[in-house]
Amino acid sequence: MSISDKVEKLLLRAEIGKALTREEIADLLRMPPAWAFELFAAADRVRKNEVGDAVFLRGIVEFSNYCTRDCLYCGLRKSNHAITRYRMSNDEILHRAEYIRKTGISTVVLQSGEDPFYSSDKVCRLIEKIRKETKLVVTLSIGERPLEDFKAFYQAGAERYLLKHETASRALYEYLRPGCLLKSRVSCLQFIKQLGFETGTGNMVGLPGQTFETLADDLLLMKSLNADMLGIGPFIPHPNTPLAGMENDGIDLTIRVLAMARLLTRNTNIPATTALATLHPQGRIFALQAGANVVMPDFTPEPYRYYYNIYPGKEKIQSPEIMVREMTEELYKIGRYIDFSAGTNLNLDHRKILH
Ligand code: SAH
Ligand code: SF4
Repeated sequence: MSISDKVEKLLLRAEIGKALTREEIADLLRMPPAWAFELFAAADRVRKNEVGDAVFLRGIVEFSNYCTRDCLYCGLRKSNHAITRYRMSNDEILHRAEYIRKTGISTVVLQSGEDPFYSSDKVCRLIEKIRKETKLVVTLSIGERPLEDFKAFYQAGAERYLLKHETASRALYEYLRPGCLLKSRVSCLQFIKQLGFETGTGNMVGLPGQTFETLADDLLLMKSLNADMLGIGPFIPHPNTPLAGMENDGIDLTIRVLAMARLLTRNTNIPATTALATLHPQGRIFALQAGANVVMPDFTPEPYRYYYNIYPGKEKIQSPEIMVREMTEELYKIGRYIDFSAGTNLNLDHRKILH
């Protein structure tokens, strides 16, 4: 069988939702560039059939850049003394949430480093306040916590949790996240899902030592977790980390992984990530035409947005107002539209388990 026959057969099977093996997924990820367009088109068709033409908005507020972890890839790692650390006050966070509400957006993502300053109680009071004052759907992205904290957050009214598994290679995960275990990350994700959270996971693409096979493992893990949201972004080397100066191969492989995620997981919410937009001016639009259906304008106020320097270039991302305006125009050109609702999700087998 020629390469093109093989790829064509695999793509057809993926598009109709047949399960693929690790090797088959790896083969699709490494396909020649001429075929990648077929992969993107197939993912775009599945996106249209499964979740429609709407693009959902999530307003993100990065409320603290303190972190006790030392992830080798991240500019917020505790050993990076070259950044200005900040914590937004509760009032500042609430004001941003109110502003997000005023723009018509229905969900806020509260993100931070792993910052123990925010006790379970503090986070719960914040969730309750935002729920009461703004009615926004609250998504948390604050890292690993004791299991009872996740339960408290859910009971306080948070409905979504983002915790990327980053890489499904145990050796790579444990090298890149000193002191952390992949199996703990996966247990957290399973627990979060079981509680009833809409659960987000995802990976970085282009990490040192990553292979097509380990990327296939990422995709199989996303599927086996029955995640509701998948954040798939390129790894962007940060100059103040041990991975400074590594090569970055651009966005093509990330978009391939994202397209495969759409084919394999069908109806999930998949953002066109900020990291894609950082690497390429058209990064978000390419992703939205290869399976993505969500964008996340950054509502972190100045000067904090410049200090939340997870990877270089992020600080140059447009203000949320400009981003939403430009996105509206760009989407119109490709027959898509912005949906300001929180967006439903279809993978919630365990919803409301606590009620
Ligand atoms: N502390 C929390 C949330 C903030 S980090 C956590 O780690 O889960 C949010 C995301 O930033 C991470 O999940 C990771 O995928 C991404 N990230 C960190 N460093 C990055 C880099 N150098 N390039 C691209 N993405 C990066
Ligand atoms: Fe901290 Fe998250 Fe960055 Fe790791 S990825 S150093 S946990 S902010």
